[in-house]
Amino acid sequence: MRPVDFEYTSPTSIEEVVRSLADGGGEATIMGGGQSLMPVLRMRMADPDLLVDLRRVPELKQVREEGDHLVIGAMTTHHTVAHDPLVAAHAGVLGQAAASVGDPQIRYRGTIGGSLAHADPAGDIAPAVLALDGAIEISGPAGARTVPAAEFFHGPFTTALDEGEVVTAVRVPKHTGWGMHYEKFAQVAQSWCIVAVAAAVQVEDGAVARARLGMANMGQTPLRAEAAEAALRGAPLQQGALHDAAARAGEGTSPAVDAAGTAEYRRHLAGVLAGRAVTAAAGVGG
Ligand SMILES: Cc1cc2nc3c(=O)[nH]c(=O)nc-3n(C[C@H](O)[C@H](O)[C@H](O)COP(=O)(O)OP(=O)(O)OC[C@H]3O[C@@H](n4cnc5c(N)ncnc54)[C@H](O)[C@@H]3O)c2cc1C
Repeated sequence: MRPVDFEYTSPTSIEEVVRSLADGGGEATIMGGGQSLMPVLRMRMADPDLLVDLRRVPELKQVREEGDHLVIGAMTTHHTVAHDPLVAAHAGVLGQAAASVGDPQIRYRGTIGGSLAHADPAGDIAPAVLALDGAIEISGPAGARTVPAAEFFHGPFTTALDEGEVVTAVRVPKHTGWGMHYEKFAQVAQSWCIVAVAAAVQVEDGAVARARLGMANMGQTPLRAEAAEAALRGAPLQQGALHDAAARAGEGTSPAVDAAGTAEYRRHLAGVLAGRAVTAAAGVGG
């Protein structure tokens, strides 16, 4: 099916984007890489009057250091995130998650900002941003603001974005020296996850000093695995101890039930994947 007719604009600065969205008066839709939006338009599940294409805004495409943070522009593609040396050095799990999105064609077009704004509970980027304790930078008619990732996701395909606002960047604290790993379980290669776990682990004196785990598809929004994180704190670097602590990842969650599995199956899977992710992140093997 063809999308409905709409006006199109491709501004070249964030200020122009915000102005264009205001001009659209609630009937404007932002396009990042178009990988999720285009199917929605073709199915006529959305019928915007105006499409605001972000592709010509250079400041949305930078990956840069800002003190002890990395700032990744919203229009940075999954392919770039997966291959960026700064991301690899300071936020490796985000690169691994980006490398697991869809297939190469989708990774060349899809963007980190689009993925977060789309807020699919099964998306790969959000759990990594949660594990890194990241935040989302937003610009809109009232100016710029930063929302912690933990507060950004309000429900399936629903976020803290207000009308006329655009995601401009993702800000993550540098995790230099932390161990990290992304563990995704999907029915077939190149597809969305049934469950995925992003782990960031800091090791000191032969034990886990701090662990943060982000999970995809374990509820209405991406989630932190708080019970497992607490159990991991102080755990010795031994396979059994790490797997036992990580097995609590599914506690307190209410994941969806669908053709891919029951809630109980997903809770079990989350524990298994968390164990794999944590042992790999901590360099314990198995
Ligand atoms: C076949 C297929 C397989 C896929 N597999 C996976 C997968 O395994 N894992 C995964 O995580 N994703 C997967 N995706 C989705 C893919 O990662 C998309 O790129 C991503 O969900 C959206 O990014 P985008 O830049 O293409 O956004 P778009 O499609 O352009 O936009 C998506 C939504 O976000 C809004 N938006 C976009 N950018 C911004 C912004 N900067 N600020 C505010 N709102 C914005 C749009 O208005 C729209 O509502 C898949 C997609 C397809 C088609």
